Order: sequence, then structure tokens, then C-alpha cells
Amino acid sequence: MSLLETRNLTAFYRDFQALFGLNTRLEEGETLAVIGANGAGKSTYLKAISGLLRGDPWSVVFGGEPIGHLSAAEIMQRGIALVPEGRRLFPSLTVEENLLVGNYGRAASGPWNLHSVFSLFPRLQERRHQASTPLSGGEQQMVAIGRALMSNPRVLLCDEISLGLAPIVIRDIYQALPKIKATGASVIIVEQDIVQAMKVADRLYCFQEGRISLAGHPAAFSREEIHAAYFGA
Ligand code: ATP
Repeated sequence: MSLLETRNLTAFYRDFQALFGLNTRLEEGETLAVIGANGAGKSTYLKAISGLLRGDPWSVVFGGEPIGHLSAAEIMQRGIALVPEGRRLFPSLTVEENLLVGNYGRAASGPWNLHSVFSLFPRLQERRHQASTPLSGGEQQMVAIGRALMSNPRVLLCDEISLGLAPIVIRDIYQALPKIKATGASVIIVEQDIVQAMKVADRLYCFQEGRISLAGHPAAFSREEIHAAYFGA
């Protein structure tokens, strides 16, 4: 049995259908990349898993239990944490306070606490007492990832963590992923930056207009196959 599955997952925004019966799986300890063009349904997929969009109970199955109907807070308590697109930090809180928000509501022991998040992202330790607003985009992204880790999740969902960042900053952020994986966490990365995603992924799904257009190990596909799955042939 996989750690996390979606079974015939559909999603709607009023009468607009964004996802069409997605069957996906994430294994324990695996890093999965979900790639696809703008509007392919990647964020919607993460919203459905994290409880921001609720649906049929068995459309999302975590550790063999149906969670598709649960709220975001309930899902976070079970061990699935989301790094949302756009970071969504609390501007009036300091870096440290933003991080501490992450373990509010989930008393799970594990490798992640302020100390280990600061050793993952040393720049955050230097800025721990500063407000989060004047931070650079990269630093804000580090806070958003650190905040999600503070709940010691079994599954970390990352929505476009490279968006709007300079290449050198993206490299710094992506260097953290193998370290996160080494703690045993399973990770789903949603990305438009295919190159970054493929470097860290054990397996990938490409979405196109709410459907899976490609699935498998990144090395199994040629550039042309990925291009066709991404943009449509
Ligand atoms: P992006 O990279 O732009 O975030 P995406 O692959 O994450 O793209 P989604 O954000 O999941 O795509 O959007 C999938 C489809 O659902 C798109 O057609 C989008 O316009 C539509 N959509 C997303 N959010 C809403 C919403 N709140 N209301 C209506 N339609 C929406």
C-alpha cells in the first residue's frame, strides 16, 4: 500500500472542472515531482490533498485511511504539511514566530525544531528576530518551508517553491530537499521549473488540462516526450 494515494480525484470550481479522475500515488520516503504548464491543475491537486478543497472521502487516501473530506487543519494534524504558492507568511510576526506557527496544532516528535530548521537554513537564524516582510523572496521561501517542517510532517507538499526567485537562490532552496528527504519525509514538489524538479525527483507526473499526460521515472523520458506531455503534442 502506498503512503498517499489519490483515487479518481476530481475537482471543480463551480461548474469548471479542473481535475479529471487523477490516480496518483506517493510511496514512503519518495520525492515526487508534479510538472505541467500554467493552469494544468497542479495547485488544485495539492489543494485537494491538503484539505483546502474538500471532496469525496476516498478520493485521497493517507496511510490506508480516507481523508478527502477532512479540513486543512485535520489533515495537517495527520502529518501532511503544505508550503503554499506565494509563501503566505504572517507579516506582523518575526521569522521565529512564523516558524513556531508551524508546530501549533500538531504535537508530533521528529527531527524538526527551531534548531534543525536554522541549521538547514542558517540565514534564518541571523534574521530570527526580524519581521518577515523585509526578507528577500528566497528567505521568505525558506521561512515557508521551515514553517511546514516544524510540524514534523510525514508528507511535505511544496507548491512552486522556485517561483519568482533568482537561479542562485533556487539552487540554495533546492539544496535543502535532499536533506529533508534524508530525515525520511516524503515530498511532493509542484513545479514549472522542470529542470529543478527532475533533479530531485524519484518519479514524476506531468499534468495537462487536469489529466496525467506522463508518469514514471524522470530518466525514462526524452526531452521531446516531456515537452509533448507538458505542452501537448
Ligand atoms: P499555475 O502554475 O498557474 O498555478 P496550476 O497547474 O497550478 O497552474 P491550477 O491553479 O490548479 O493550475 O488551476 C487549474 C485550473 O483551474 C485553471 O484553469 C485555473 O484557471 C482554474 N482555477 C484555479 N483556481 C480557481 C478558482 N479559485 N476559481 C476558478 N477557477 C480556478
